[in-house]
Amino acid sequence: MQTEDTAMRYAERPLIGISSCLLGQKVRYDGTAKRDPWLVEHFGRHVDFEPVCPEMAIGLGTPRPPIRLVGTPEAIRVVGVEDPAVDVTGALEDFAFNTAGRLGGISGYVFMSKSPSCGMERVKLYNAKGHGEKKGVGVYARVLMQSLPNLPCEEEGRLNDPMLRENFVNRVFAFRRWQSLRAAGLEPKSLIDFHARHKYMVMTHSQAAYQRLGRLLSNLKGVDLEQVADAYEAEFMTALKRRAGRKRHVNALQHIQGYLKDRIDGDDKRELAESIEAYRREEVPLVVPMKLLRHYFRRNPDHYIDRQWYLDPYPESLGLRNAI
Ligand code: SF4
Repeated sequence: MQTEDTAMRYAERPLIGISSCLLGQKVRYDGTAKRDPWLVEHFGRHVDFEPVCPEMAIGLGTPRPPIRLVGTPEAIRVVGVEDPAVDVTGALEDFAFNTAGRLGGISGYVFMSKSPSCGMERVKLYNAKGHGEKKGVGVYARVLMQSLPNLPCEEEGRLNDPMLRENFVNRVFAFRRWQSLRAAGLEPKSLIDFHARHKYMVMTHSQAAYQRLGRLLSNLKGVDLEQVADAYEAEFMTALKRRAGRKRHVNALQHIQGYLKDRIDGDDKRELAESIEAYRREEVPLVVPMKLLRHYFRRNPDHYIDRQWYLDPYPESLGLRNAI
């Protein structure tokens, strides 16, 4: 679809931080692993992984006595289950802080769920009476996410949901493109071009956010581009985190369809319109109207649409739009 060759477009593989046990490393407290086949065999074809096991890194070894979260959501400690005098909160926090600095160039992070170190949410937190509720956040994950607030992060369990999986992968590749843009040196022209190329993508998440992003770039004369880019990055990544609604996808598809108005005949127009309607009625997945649009634009190229990342946001072989 896009003008660049597909292999070239994804030549810059995103680097993804990941809990080591998800890659099959036997680093868990009981000496086992938690290998995730989709991450290793599918996602791993398109990204590079930077495995991190915080508990191993702070010297706990494996197998090791288990640890758990205790306290209240506002004041969490990580202590030994058998020996509560063992408190590794500070060691995990320091390690997370240093890792965030070391891995500043990563484009995403996949955490292992339920872990007192790596869990992103709903980790069991034990009160003074020893009663556990799913109210905690793993200490390593919390500090890392606070240190890199725009980084796309997910847990392996949540990635089984097709919507959340697609959303995460989309954010990873969008963030990678943004990182490349910043690394190349900020120019008003490149910022405006980035914004234009992500128009339909952002609009499927939030029209208001697309307008706010546009306002940030409306007058770049004499302004500090680093400051503008910081604000743009936060707004852009927050927008993409929002669930992309079916209605907003239909809107974007119909807008793009408008560019074919005078280029395809009546039968083709009807076929395209019907496939968008079938998607609206939840009879076919998003990939169906997308494929048809791409087919027509291949035969009738349009420079503006060809450069829209919405139509080709990540490697197609991941098949993510077959499931949403
Ligand atoms: S969940 Fe985190 S701390 Fe636990 S074994 Fe996996 S990588 Fe290590």
